[in-house]
Amino acid sequence: MRISAIFQMNRQAATSDQPPTSNQSGQTGQTIVKQSASVDRQPELLTLTPELSDELSDANRRLEDASAEEITHWAVERFFPQLTMATAFGPEGCAILYMLSKIEPRTYVFNLETGYQFQETLELRDRIARQYGIEVDLKKPELTIAEYEAKHGGPLYKTNPDQCCFDRKVTVLRQAVQGMHAWMSGIRRDQSPDRADAPIVGWDAKFNLVKISPLARWTKSDVWNLILEKKIPYNPLHDQGYPSIGCWPCTRSVMLGEDERAGRWSGKEKTECGLHTIEFEQGGGI
Ligand code: SF4
Repeated sequence: MRISAIFQMNRQAATSDQPPTSNQSGQTGQTIVKQSASVDRQPELLTLTPELSDELSDANRRLEDASAEEITHWAVERFFPQLTMATAFGPEGCAILYMLSKIEPRTYVFNLETGYQFQETLELRDRIARQYGIEVDLKKPELTIAEYEAKHGGPLYKTNPDQCCFDRKVTVLRQAVQGMHAWMSGIRRDQSPDRADAPIVGWDAKFNLVKISPLARWTKSDVWNLILEKKIPYNPLHDQGYPSIGCWPCTRSVMLGEDERAGRWSGKEKTECGLHTIEFEQGGGI
């Protein structure tokens, strides 16, 4: 189906400022969508066949100039219910949650609850559930913070943050996306050099998933304009000098003029948690 036709079909729902009163399944906007229970997962893995590779390349070309809503519509049409999104409740994730609330609120969205998140972040999850009826699933590592720190003789984020991120984020994400075929991300190309080449649609070789980034072409201003215009809930720490928020031990506020991700793993070479590290295969993926 052509992008314009998909968009036309959903235009009415997508342009409403109110939570949907009903969707195709008869759910109401006031009903909390239980994320972990609402997904019909297929066990088979998606593999990158030449046909799929061609399809993704074609979609990436066609969607390069599409709006974020059109890209999200395409992702839902093509992959739901094997479509998912991981969110740390940053402004970009909240913007996509707003779009999903109007397009397909049953999309499985999860948060990597490392145990080190700010209280404000966890409270934002509840605010989004109340406003949009989407209860983001909190995915936790096997070990609690106390067990993990006891095992390693103290907090690993101080001595080996790569391992800490791998254990408490990457491993958990791998489990969360089992049976999924595609995931959406809120990354923007202008966030960092690491993200400058992010395609709209690509193959994520690290997780064997199609990766869709509806906001890849957006700027920070684009995101905040949508949040303020649509009154989308956001993390209050953004008003206190934290443009990018992860776990509290690895996040600091930034000074005027600093890069927006300068407060993440400050003082360390590390710049990414490993979820969005580029692994090219067949010309795509980030
Ligand atoms: Fe650990 Fe810091 Fe990574 Fe969180 S961001 S998982 S605390 S190293």
